[in-house]
Amino acid sequence: MKGTCELCERGEIQLTIHHLTTRELGGSLLPIAYLCKSCHKQIHALYSNRELAIRLYTVLLLKDDEALKK
Ligand SMILES: [Zn+2]
Ligand SMILES: [Zn+2]
Repeated sequence: MKGTCELCERGEIQLTIHHLTTRELGGSLLPIAYLCKSCHKQIHALYSNRELAIRLYTVLLLKDDEALKK
């Protein structure tokens, strides 16, 4: 699927689905974000699933996080 990455806002690129909370913590019922492969990879390299679920459960929170601004 092609579209605009919700994090870096580059358009017309291949998107992957990121569950804003992990499936173990009920993520399948909660919102998802469409992210390009590089943003998605970066998020999972920087944060644990637990940290994502507890602290970074919206795209806005992710966008605001210092570690990702680089
Ligand atoms: Zn991106
Ligand atoms: Zn993900």
